[in-house]
Amino acid sequence: MICNNININNSGILEFAGQDTTCLAKKYGTPLYLLDENKIRDNCKTYVNAMAKAYGDNFAVLYASKANSFKKIYNIVNEENMCVDVVSVGEIYTALKAGYPLSKAYFHSNNKTDADVDFAIKNGVGYFVVDNAEELDVIDATAKKYGICQNILLRLTPGIDTHTYEAVNTGKVDSKFGTAIETGQAYKIVEKTLTFNNIKLCGFHCHIGSMVFDSDTFLRGADIMLDFIYKVKTELNLVTEQLDLGGGYGVRYTKNDPVIDIEKNILQVSDFIKNKCYKLNITVPKILLEPGRSIVADAGMTLYTVGTVKKITGYKNYVSVDGGMTDNPRYALYGSEYTLFLANKASQKSTLECDVVGRCCESGDIIQQNVLLPEAERGDILAVCTTGAYNYSMAMNYNRIARPPIVMLKDGSNYVAVKRETLDDLIANDL
Ligand SMILES: *Cc1c(COP(=O)(O)O)cnc(C)c1O
Repeated sequence: MICNNININNSGILEFAGQDTTCLAKKYGTPLYLLDENKIRDNCKTYVNAMAKAYGDNFAVLYASKANSFKKIYNIVNEENMCVDVVSVGEIYTALKAGYPLSKAYFHSNNKTDADVDFAIKNGVGYFVVDNAEELDVIDATAKKYGICQNILLRLTPGIDTHTYEAVNTGKVDSKFGTAIETGQAYKIVEKTLTFNNIKLCGFHCHIGSMVFDSDTFLRGADIMLDFIYKVKTELNLVTEQLDLGGGYGVRYTKNDPVIDIEKNILQVSDFIKNKCYKLNITVPKILLEPGRSIVADAGMTLYTVGTVKKITGYKNYVSVDGGMTDNPRYALYGSEYTLFLANKASQKSTLECDVVGRCCESGDIIQQNVLLPEAERGDILAVCTTGAYNYSMAMNYNRIARPPIVMLKDGSNYVAVKRETLDDLIANDL
């Protein structure tokens, strides 16, 4: 199995977090997002414990909440001693309403509007991760208006090209995110930052990419960032308190994806950082990581009911489900791979080669192509694994399709964390 919370029981039924998925589909209806709360907590602990081993108490793990944002998740990560990274007023508001202490939130975004900046400062967001020079003027003016000094990190681009998908590749110089070190603009923005009275520069941030499977990317990122930290210390007398290395450890969507040892990776990176700081004669800054996907992805599974099964003689077979790109746009966006099961026939032989498609009026509405499944029929339950990240948070209402609920699985029981959208929810804003 791709993850240890998935198994097939003696009756040939797919279980998730030890619970019968066909019973869950019956109880809550489909499409249905399941989230294994114990797995989320285990994933948080893996990071927090490894970082403690690596850096003592001089670290923070930020949950990148764009991976999956709803009130309950902020309570869970807070209980697991994590900070959060938020990227919009909507995420800030969700965290706020969940009772999450916003002093532990880091506000990202390459384009924060004046209203966004105002909202975040008014509500006490701990840190801004500043993307560009113009943003600084707005933050300084707004912080002045509220009579505070706003803590910030500067997002820099170290100019590293990861070998992952283009769409999730963000550390290159020509990225829309951050300010480039290579062009000299990063140094200039530091100088500019130091001229503001209502801004405190606490450190630097970089995010190199997503679906990273080894520590090499983080080592190269840290190397460039520490050289920069040394330069601003010697030339501008600036002591860097925090270094945020971003997110991006990969997860297993299919058997072909490797298993990563996150603790080992974190320790390799920390050895490198400590050594390099020693050589440069600088103190090791507080190190931050921002995992999103690797906290929630393998804690998720989506259940659908099979509808039309269309066999086009001599061509292709289509298995249609009662959801699609509206609840999981990742195949449509980047051809993402997933592992699929027929939950009620999980131990039957896979003989049907098919494309699993959604119900939208859009031929790109595909969950996965060229899948091998047992003979699928109307009424079967189809499970898509590893959907805990970038599914609910990317869901939409195209074709006026209501979004599925999120049901949490915990210690053998289950509860609703996000209700199913109703038809009335769909027209709630229509006048
Ligand atoms: C998306 C993102 C993350 C999280 O990436 P994952 O691949 O989900 O771990 C972290 N930091 C920043 C700045 C991001 O944009």
